[in-house]
Amino acid sequence: MGKTLAINAGSSSLKWQLYAMPEETVLAKGLIERIGLKNSAITVKYAQQVDKKVIDIHTHTEAVKQLMNDLKTFKLIDDFNEITGVGHRVVAGGELFKESTLITSEVLQQIKSISNLAPLHNPANAQGIEAFLELLPEATAVAVFDTAFHTTLPEKAYRYPIPNKYYHDYNIRKYGAHGTSHMYVSQEATKYLNKPIEDLKLITCHIGNGVSLSAIKGGKSVDTSMGFTPLAGVMMGTRSGEIDPSIIPYMIENDPELHSAQDVIDLLNTKSGLLGVSEISSDMRDVQNSESEGNKNAALAYELFIDRIQKYIAQYFAVLNGADAVIFTAGIGENGCREREDIINGMDWFGFKIDDEKNKRGCVGNIATADSKVKVLVIPTDEELVIARDVEAFKK
Ligand code: ADP
Repeated sequence: MGKTLAINAGSSSLKWQLYAMPEETVLAKGLIERIGLKNSAITVKYAQQVDKKVIDIHTHTEAVKQLMNDLKTFKLIDDFNEITGVGHRVVAGGELFKESTLITSEVLQQIKSISNLAPLHNPANAQGIEAFLELLPEATAVAVFDTAFHTTLPEKAYRYPIPNKYYHDYNIRKYGAHGTSHMYVSQEATKYLNKPIEDLKLITCHIGNGVSLSAIKGGKSVDTSMGFTPLAGVMMGTRSGEIDPSIIPYMIENDPELHSAQDVIDLLNTKSGLLGVSEISSDMRDVQNSESEGNKNAALAYELFIDRIQKYIAQYFAVLNGADAVIFTAGIGENGCREREDIINGMDWFGFKIDDEKNKRGCVGNIATADSKVKVLVIPTDEELVIARDVEAFKK
C-alpha cells in the first residue's frame, strides 16, 4: 500500500515520521526547526543513524522539498510517488470536523477559517498541508484533528455557563485538544485491563509540554481539561491553565507593559506555567534540577504543577463516578516517576496506590500495587501511528 508520512507542522517547525503501511513499520523520522529563520536545523533518524545539518529553510514548502530530497538521499524512497499518503495533525477542528477528513481545497479553507480556535497551531498546520499538496498532489492527504475525539462530550461538559448567544452565534464552547493521544492510550489500556473498552472508565493524563486530562467512558471522551483553546485546564510548560478571568482586565489596567487582552493571552500562553513560576525553564527536568539546588521558585512551580493535575483527576473521578484506571502518557507522564508518585500517593483515598518498584523501574503497563482498587497505567503515546492508520483507512 506504499509509504505514508505523518506530519506535525508548527509555525517554525515540521515534525515527520515515515511509515511502511499497512505493516506500520517506522522507516524514519525527523524534524526541521527554525523554518523562516537563519540556520534551520534538520534532523533525520533512520536505521540507527542520525543525520543532522544546518541550512537556511525559508518556507514550509522549502522544508517539504528538503524532507523529500533527504528521503531520496538516504534511500528511504527511490521516487516521490512512493509516498502514497500524507496525514496532517490539525489542532482545531471546531464543530466542523468530528473525524479525520480527506483534504480538499474546501477542507483546507475550513481549517484556516477556524484559526481563532488555535491561533498558534491551525495556520501552521495549514501551511504544512499546502506545501505537501504542491509537492505531492497525487498522495492521499488526510487531516487528523486533535479535537475530533472530544466531539462526544455531552452538552453539559462542552457548554460554558455564559449567555447562550455566545455558543449559538460565536461557537464558544469547550473543544479540548490532544484527542489523538487520549484516544490512543485509552484503546491501548484494554490490553492491560482485560475488559472491552465499552466497559471501562478511564482518566487519561497527557503530561508533556502541553498538559491535558480526559475522562473517558466506554471509549468516548466525556470531559477534558482544555477548553475553547489549548490554554485552559491544568498548568503546563509555558501555559497558565485556568485562572480567574477577572485577572485579565486587572493586569491590563495595572501593568504598564500590558496594553491589550492579546498581550495578556500571549503572556498566559508563552510566559506562564512552569516557566512563569520557576523563572528558570518550561522544561520539567530543568525545574527539578533547580529545585534540588534549593531554588524556591522551582519548588513552588513543581508543587503547583502536581496540585493542578491532582485536582483534575479528582474531578474526573466525580464525572465518571469512579474509574478503572488512571493513565499517564507523554514526556512527563511516561518518564517522570517522581511526578507519578507525588500525584498518586497524595490522593490514595481514591483507591489507588503505586508499586514503588515498578514505578521507579519505569515499566510500561500497570504500576499499581496488586491491592490497588484503581489501576495506574503508563502507556507511551503514539499520535503519529494514529495519523498513519487514519490515512490508510482512506487509501482503501
Ligand atoms: P511535547 O508536548 O512538546 O510533545 P513532550 O511530551 O516531549 O512534550 O514532554 C516534554 C516534557 O517532558 C518536558 O517538560 C521534559 O522535561 C519532560 N521530560 C522528559 N523526560 C523526563 C524525565 N525523565 N523526567 C521528567 N520529565 C521529563
